[in-house]
Amino acid sequence: MAEVYSDNDLSAYSGKPRPAYKRMLADIASGSIDAVVCWHLDRLHRSPKELEHFFEVCDRAGLRHMATVTGDVDLSTDDGRFHARIMGAVARKSSDDSSRRLKRKMESLAQSGQFKGGKRPFGFEPDGTTLRSEEADLVREAARRILAGESMRGICGEWNRAGVADRRWEPQALKRILLAPRVAGLREYKGEVVGNAVWSEIIDQATWERLRGLLSDPGRTQHRARSYLLTGTAFCSLCGGRMVARPRIDKTRAYVCGPDTGGCNKVSIKAEPLEELVAEAILVALDSPALAEALRAASGEDDAQQDLLASLQSDQTALDQLAKDHYADRLIGRSEYLAARDALERRVGATRKALERNSGAGVLASISTGIRDAWESRGFDWRRTLIGAVLERVVVRPAKRGYPKFDPDRVELMWRA
Ligand SMILES: [Zn+2]
Repeated sequence: MAEVYSDNDLSAYSGKPRPAYKRMLADIASGSIDAVVCWHLDRLHRSPKELEHFFEVCDRAGLRHMATVTGDVDLSTDDGRFHARIMGAVARKSSDDSSRRLKRKMESLAQSGQFKGGKRPFGFEPDGTTLRSEEADLVREAARRILAGESMRGICGEWNRAGVADRRWEPQALKRILLAPRVAGLREYKGEVVGNAVWSEIIDQATWERLRGLLSDPGRTQHRARSYLLTGTAFCSLCGGRMVARPRIDKTRAYVCGPDTGGCNKVSIKAEPLEELVAEAILVALDSPALAEALRAASGEDDAQQDLLASLQSDQTALDQLAKDHYADRLIGRSEYLAARDALERRVGATRKALERNSGAGVLASISTGIRDAWESRGFDWRRTLIGAVLERVVVRPAKRGYPKFDPDRVELMWRA
């Protein structure tokens, strides 16, 4: 039995009462819950005191397990609790930072954030204040894609081909633009953000902070090298082989049907556009109200789950009885036994599949709200998990001859039922 406790829109920091959280604590205390699953620890508590209280309640009730998207917490060990406390402290620090930023924002309203002049900043008109909308759109798009795991090099390549701003784009230049406080509508003085600018933001501040965190991450380059989102999901259409990650000679990432893994070696595809296509398809699919509704319905089907389990059990009992009737008691002959067994086994298989599908839907339902935000803010592993949850496979067909561009028609997405 699973229950969802949701205080939507009530941030752990808002200070507002959170009725569902209270109800959850009460249920833990009464022993009706034996594990807690939450997005992230920082969604659960707003003060060290509250966290310690949570530990106490769990202690008394003997609750030990807490799972989060970023990792599980063993509440029964000192290490686990230490981890939880650290996570809480980090979350509060960033929350404090955002209220400080807010305060700074208020203070800066008195000062005016005029453009101090100089070269026209990308995204703005020469007055440095009016947005140049087509460039602003590009900046926004670049930010979104980088947060979705794409490389700056890939985006620069596209901008160069499209002749954006008649200049040559290098990752460093793009990074400078994206990280400049001015794109978030902030004014900078001697490398410090001093307040709001008079111009409008291109990227909202929360997104910009995420981008800053991501781009200043020293592990980013090494991490990118391993970031093949679709290994295990991408298959060759010719031989059915699993496609493996293989950077090409020009260093662009690619998936290939490799001979060293027993593949036909006839299909390869550039990784970036393929991953982008898959990501977009998933986001569109999960963003649709119809699917969200279906998922909600599916996750509410605890009863269906129970029925499936019951039918699984009764079929298995029937199988045992059948074997006994045939082998031990000789009540039925071999051919009848085999026919009845096959039918039962087929049904057991189908029930197992249905059970798997049902539990997958539950996971999806918990993430289908704000899927785009989640996609952008969660890491690589989370994206891989999500892809695995919704796609059975991504089948890649061979390239048409003389067609150098990325061809979406080569790709077929097989959704999990
Ligand atoms: Zn192949």
